[in-house]
Amino acid sequence: MFQTDDTIAAVSSAGGVAAIGIIRVSGPNALALIRPYLTALPVDQALTVCPAWQRVSGEFRLTDTIRCRCEVYFFNAPHSYTTQDLVEIHLPGSPALLQFVLQALLRDGARMANPGEFTCRAFLNNRIDLTEAQAVAAMIGAQCDSQLKAAERLLEGELRTRCREIKEPLKQLLALIEAGIDFSQEEIEFIDSCQVRQQLIAIIDQMNRLLSSSQSWQQLDLAPRVVLAGPPNAGKSSLANRLTGLERGIVSLVAGTTRDVLTSPLKLAHGECLLLDTAGLGPVDDPLGEASQHAARKAMQTANLIIWVMDATCPQAFEEIIQHQALIDVPAILVVNKIDLINGSVQLICQDTPFEKMLYCSALQNSHLEELRHTIDRMLADRLITAGRDEDIALTSMQQFELEAACQSMQNAVSLAEDAEPEQELIALEIRDALDHLAVIGGEVTTDDILGEIFGQFCIGK
Ligand code: GDP
Repeated sequence: MFQTDDTIAAVSSAGGVAAIGIIRVSGPNALALIRPYLTALPVDQALTVCPAWQRVSGEFRLTDTIRCRCEVYFFNAPHSYTTQDLVEIHLPGSPALLQFVLQALLRDGARMANPGEFTCRAFLNNRIDLTEAQAVAAMIGAQCDSQLKAAERLLEGELRTRCREIKEPLKQLLALIEAGIDFSQEEIEFIDSCQVRQQLIAIIDQMNRLLSSSQSWQQLDLAPRVVLAGPPNAGKSSLANRLTGLERGIVSLVAGTTRDVLTSPLKLAHGECLLLDTAGLGPVDDPLGEASQHAARKAMQTANLIIWVMDATCPQAFEEIIQHQALIDVPAILVVNKIDLINGSVQLICQDTPFEKMLYCSALQNSHLEELRHTIDRMLADRLITAGRDEDIALTSMQQFELEAACQSMQNAVSLAEDAEPEQELIALEIRDALDHLAVIGGEVTTDDILGEIFGQFCIGK
């Protein structure tokens, strides 16, 4: 059983240091729990002005003497995600600070939220249906644009529509078979075995199309990862934008603009890979910069290929890149970028080069980028995947399992229909079984086990 009448709290922003961190509190005491910590915030007055929701800025009282700036969003029931009173406190994103505040709220009577419990409450209170809840999980887990789009299609209810398209003809077929069973003593034939078989096969075909659209979406998780690395301002984001045709990273003259790891699908001649644009390596003097560099190093360690990028006008970066590459056991190529800024060639001397290939490019002038694409394509060759079609939809592993089980029941029904004297009752039984599995996918049948499985996959705070 899921408890929904108490007040839960959790940090709902991502782990690590960030500009802003968020604590979410939902339940009947949400407002009362927060109120003593807010100094000089016109909470009650604000809620009278706008009863649905309100945003107020002010200070959060950490101790009698220490305060920090905050923004607080109050959502009055039923105008919130969970449909309960819900408060979101936006604070400076220091993990220690967020834990300090969370522990204080827990001491005051809030309960630590379980994974996915906010979304679970949204579902149990009929704010969203089960396929939408699963779409939220898919969105949180999406690694690139194609996956995000596939999750969006799920959120827009496309799975429900596709399940309905499968279930409606299946229900009609079952009705005809059952009518034949009920009137088996009469001379009337509602549908003959050949038609049953044909219709079953047509529906299996539809199910297989849904399955393969989801599998190709999931394949993106297996796509090889190509990491763009190097000093700040070398032109990594410009290269990523040119190669993928997407404007993801902010390209600017200020060094250190890519703060996080930006992932985009990169389409090549033999398939697709994921291109990860990382923060520039080099000295940093703030925790945010340190966190970005940590993320960049982690991305490099799990890469299938590293593209080191250096600025042709800063040849001194070469030595530094070689030292970094010596610590990583991943194949790498070196791109000397901005060749439009130099006359002649750059002298890079290295006796024992750690790079599989060195290329001279200009992201600005789009020169030699085809050669770079070709090199990546050749080096990753058979590992590239085909994925990310427009009709792809993000099924969770449980939905996929149920769809496969429904397909299996349908195959059993086809085999039975092929018998010389088909057993109509057994065919009907298999079809009913398939319909039961489809009902789980469409979110019509739920048990505590199913809900536990779905919401257990979320992270805490979502
Ligand atoms: P990152 O920090 O390595 O991601 O570098 P950016 O892509 O943000 O580029 C830093 C600056 O260099 C920007 O002003 C870009 O317009 C410029 N830039 C990037 N590639 C080239 C190039 O090939 N030639 C020239 N002249 N400028 C470039």
